[in-house]
Amino acid sequence: MPLPVPERAGLAVVGAGPAGLAAAVTAADGGLDVVLIDAADAPGGQFYRAPAPGLGATRPEALHHGWAAFTSLTARLARHRESGRLCHATGHQVWAARRTGEDWTLHAVTGPDGRDGDVAVRARRLVIATGAHERQLPFPGWTLPGVVGAAGAQAMLKSGLVLPGRRVVVAGSGPLLQAVALSLARAGAQVPALVEAAGYGAYARAPLVLAANPDRLAEGVRHRAGLARHGVRMLTHRAVTAVHGTERVEGVTVSRLDRAWRPVPGTGRRIDCDTLAVGHGLVPQLDLALGLGCATRPGTDGSAALELDEELRTTVPGVWAAGETGGIGGVHLALAEGELAALSVIADARDGRPGRSGARVAALRRGRRRMRRFAGLMGAVHRPGPGWTGWLAPDTEVCRCEEVTAGAVRTAVDELGAGDSRTAKLLTRAGMGWCQGRTCGFAVRELAGRAEAGAPDRRPLACPVPLSTLARAARPEDE
Ligand SMILES: Cc1cc2nc3c(=O)[nH]c(=O)nc-3n(C[C@H](O)[C@H](O)[C@H](O)COP(=O)(O)OP(=O)(O)OC[C@H]3O[C@@H](n4cnc5c(N)ncnc54)[C@H](O)[C@@H]3O)c2cc1C
Repeated sequence: MPLPVPERAGLAVVGAGPAGLAAAVTAADGGLDVVLIDAADAPGGQFYRAPAPGLGATRPEALHHGWAAFTSLTARLARHRESGRLCHATGHQVWAARRTGEDWTLHAVTGPDGRDGDVAVRARRLVIATGAHERQLPFPGWTLPGVVGAAGAQAMLKSGLVLPGRRVVVAGSGPLLQAVALSLARAGAQVPALVEAAGYGAYARAPLVLAANPDRLAEGVRHRAGLARHGVRMLTHRAVTAVHGTERVEGVTVSRLDRAWRPVPGTGRRIDCDTLAVGHGLVPQLDLALGLGCATRPGTDGSAALELDEELRTTVPGVWAAGETGGIGGVHLALAEGELAALSVIADARDGRPGRSGARVAALRRGRRRMRRFAGLMGAVHRPGPGWTGWLAPDTEVCRCEEVTAGAVRTAVDELGAGDSRTAKLLTRAGMGWCQGRTCGFAVRELAGRAEAGAPDRRPLACPVPLSTLARAARPEDE
């Protein structure tokens, strides 16, 4: 059962991943009353996702690196919980945030589909650390059983200690694929190939950024060596352009791509497998921030990220953000940004007096600038090329919730005059289902024309909620 949540706090942090966790414990260290709210039952977010307690894992750290940093954060969390300085509201999904006088009010639901109850929390200041979700580009066969998200496969392994299959092709784009392929191989899966749509050579175009981030270079080398040891073939400038099988995946076709990611005719080769783990990087989860009016900027990877200043303030006074919401950058950046955001919140609560953290702030800012530059490079290298739509067949489903095909979206654009994704959605229902376009949003925007690249998806509710919850949260003026 979730613990009772205080009605009012000095600071509310949404998201207990690396960024939110670092922000919450730093703010509590600084003397603020903090409520840390997360939809999950345990802290850690996506990176520090631990096995479910019922599995009785004796070495929860086995599938992780950097576990010591996590245990140090959770020890601080436990201390502040015991002292009553910090409330960690687990299993609470925030569906909306709004201004209430000088405070922010967060509306959260608990239980499956939000049916167990709802809670409103008020706070003077707000840090949004809601992380990211996986980006998918559709292709023929991607809805067949046995096709899973690459990051999803990693999450499945870390939290459920299960493999998605015995022989798994890992495909898509971005450095996360290497971590996923290595985890699967180490856990006993056979991984015949890692199929990367971009090429790693493009990183060499920014030697200064690489030289400033030797840890990322070393990580890449370690991953490549590990993959080689497990016999994983690395195929670059290639993509899975079709999945084969009747009841479930039996194999995939891998095609060579040109520079624009168009499949080169005649290059398709079949690889037999029972599972495909596929993903094209991550997309910042911005629903709450957008609902509050926070401005975004187009990221180098083609998705929108929050516009943040050096102190991690959003463009809305009283609202800070950290981690993947400001652009996809990895765990170390998320940890640094969480701490920086909290130090800024503490200074703000003391009317701008920064306290004794000046040197720490300067070091964190330097690190952040360095890591953000690497994140920008990573986004540009792995940004989907415009030719990826060339691997769609007219009957390929783009929106799985509403079963809308690529042909239907193209008809809306080419014949019915839909000039943007919103009109395409109104004409086809793409993005109107349960996931509200989280899975298909990027693809529909690209099919509607690239003019909207980097524009955010707007959803008034961050998750589905019962109508009774909406009714209870309504203010007289809303009615
Ligand atoms: C599925 C997945 C697997 C990943 N696996 C790896 C990996 O193996 N290796 C690696 O280097 N990187 C991995 N990453 C990337 C890595 O997790 C991030 O770089 C890092 O965790 C970012 O930290 P964060 O705090 O910004 O976000 P996250 O860790 O994503 O944390 C965000 C938190 O916010 C919570 N949240 C979101 N919305 C709400 C809401 N409305 N209400 C309440 N709570 C909310 C979520 O439950 C989550 O706990 C993965 C990412 C994903 C999406």
